[in-house]
Amino acid sequence: MADHYEVLGVARDASEDQIKKAYRKLARELHPDVNPAPEAQERFKLVTHAYEVLSDSDSRRQYDQGGQNPFGSAGFGGFGDIFDTFFGGGGQRGPRSRQERGQDALIRVDLKLDEVVFGVEKELEVDTAVLCTTCNGDCCRPGTSMVTCDVCRGAGQIQRQVRSLLGNVVTSSPCGTCRGFGQTIPEPCLDCRGQGRVRARRKIDLNIPGGVEDGLRLQLSGQGEVGFAGGPSGDLYVDVAVAPHETFGRDGDDLTCIIEVPLHDAVLGALTTINSFDGEERVELEPGLQTGDVITLKGKGVKHLRESGRGNLRIQVQVKTPTKLDAKQKEIFRQLAKLRKADSIKLVEHSSSRFGKRR
Ligand SMILES: [Zn+2]
Ligand SMILES: [Zn+2]
Repeated sequence: MADHYEVLGVARDASEDQIKKAYRKLARELHPDVNPAPEAQERFKLVTHAYEVLSDSDSRRQYDQGGQNPFGSAGFGGFGDIFDTFFGGGGQRGPRSRQERGQDALIRVDLKLDEVVFGVEKELEVDTAVLCTTCNGDCCRPGTSMVTCDVCRGAGQIQRQVRSLLGNVVTSSPCGTCRGFGQTIPEPCLDCRGQGRVRARRKIDLNIPGGVEDGLRLQLSGQGEVGFAGGPSGDLYVDVAVAPHETFGRDGDDLTCIIEVPLHDAVLGALTTINSFDGEERVELEPGLQTGDVITLKGKGVKHLRESGRGNLRIQVQVKTPTKLDAKQKEIFRQLAKLRKADSIKLVEHSSSRFGKRR
């Protein structure tokens, strides 16, 4: 690092006035508004820094005592840092806040499929930290208050002067008496032992919207643990688990189910009802129904989570071939077979296979 006196072009015993004049003269030449060249800007920085150091009598004395900094400004954090520490210019060092943000919490809610179809209100119990109502989070026994730490005098830091090449350098470390808070609690609140919060079971009414899926994680901001000393609360995460249903499946926002249709109903058509989550639904079976056919009941599925409306209910048909026929029934089928000689057993093209279309 260049010598500050040399940078300004003044003698080591130059007066304040001489230093100021030298700086003004150089600044007029090098100021970025006047001289945009990169070298000029670099020099302007050096000149300005030299002036900052030498124009202040205290920092000039420090500089003179320390002489030239053999490490260069980068090697030692620069003079600015040291002076900040000395004269309180930095401001970033002070007592730390006792308040901390609370932890996030995670719980699981078990839902049945019908609760997911329409949405449901659930009362959840959470074991968590809540604000201490005795001290309202300020940690002190009611009627008492925190006092300024008499060791660090509220700074939260203990400063120590160390002699170095640069003169006296101040180092600071957190105060052990107040643990850096700057204040101590002479009489901690008995209910929270000076923590400002206590453990409690808390009930939360959770409105679960229709359409949530198994594995979804809901975030309830500010519903987690209250922080230390009444600090802001963390978030509560709720993992949604949906139990499988014995009859209905779910495919996106559609519900699915399978109905078994006797052969004669599949041939001739029929009217039937099924019990869905909406209650009894009339289902019309068209004549000529095949295994794998799907009957769709529009709007009878799961509520959409992010928009209005619902998915569909898809009913898949499974034709039941009769077994254990008596003599008369067998005879009827034999007659039918004679009348339908054109029907034959054959290979089906894969692409037109009903099984390929099954959903
Ligand atoms: Zn308390
Ligand atoms: Zn202290």
